[in-house]
Amino acid sequence: MMQPLLMRLRELHPQAEIHVLAPAWSAPLLARMPEVTATIENPFAHGAFDWAGRKALGCRLAGADFRQAYVLPNSWKSALVPFFAKIPERIGYHGEARYFLLNRRFPKSTLPRLVDRYAALAGNSGTATPEPRLTSALQQQRAARETLGLPPDAAPVVFCPGAEYGPAKRWPIHHYAALARKVGAGGTAVWIIGSHKDAAVGKEIERLSEGTALNLCGRTNLEQAIDLIAGARAVVSNDSGLMHVAAALDRPMVALYGSSSPAYTPPLSAHAKILSLGLDCSPCFKRECPLGHLRCLEDIAPEYVLAALNL
Ligand code: SF4
Repeated sequence: MMQPLLMRLRELHPQAEIHVLAPAWSAPLLARMPEVTATIENPFAHGAFDWAGRKALGCRLAGADFRQAYVLPNSWKSALVPFFAKIPERIGYHGEARYFLLNRRFPKSTLPRLVDRYAALAGNSGTATPEPRLTSALQQQRAARETLGLPPDAAPVVFCPGAEYGPAKRWPIHHYAALARKVGAGGTAVWIIGSHKDAAVGKEIERLSEGTALNLCGRTNLEQAIDLIAGARAVVSNDSGLMHVAAALDRPMVALYGSSSPAYTPPLSAHAKILSLGLDCSPCFKRECPLGHLRCLEDIAPEYVLAALNL
């Protein structure tokens, strides 16, 4: 979501160094963004205030002579590190009354897409927001397959059935399994990719697919997941982080939306097809279906997804 801002900044300042303060887990993603010079680990747990820790990190960065800081979250605490680092220009949305923490504050954006809101912090370029693009060299793709014991020449359909947010964003397991059987019947391999948290879901899809799908959830690190997706023939994904990865790798993709809205965080790729039923109750943005039926995803039939895949 924030890479288009980096692209804009790189255009404006071709010689500048761009350092990104981000959680350790995101380092493999940032390493695949050509705009990023270096990453600084953000050690603070989600929601943790940790005044002393933020002050210590800010003071440590004060000697690095950073000129500008772009603060993307809206929280008060997220603006503390650049403040303590005495970065002269601290830019972001007004958010939680960040009067003195930020000295270039923008009013709340009315742009519907998060990606446009972030990119707008670099100023209005008069051009469309660029699409994120991650790099994945053929050599990296080969290495990932070799490490995982996967065939080097397969052109699989990759499923990303996780969605950390909750079940109301997950296309049902039985639909994924039915789709795997249909894809497999055409001779195409199906690989299931996700984190260790998705391992049980992946295992169940594998079981119900009658051996067609291969469960790789929890077996890859993020870098390998990027490289496996980069080599996919096509991707089927819930609205999740890996959906955005697949979009940034510009793979043909079918993105399935349930309780969330494609108007807010759509996959940013011309090769992505969005399937969203637009029911009266959607988007509800709930983690679990408050109506108990999950029609928004249950009613997206595997046949419909197969047709959208257009294999
Ligand atoms: S209320 Fe509607 S949009 Fe929300 S999860 Fe249930 S079916 Fe989906």
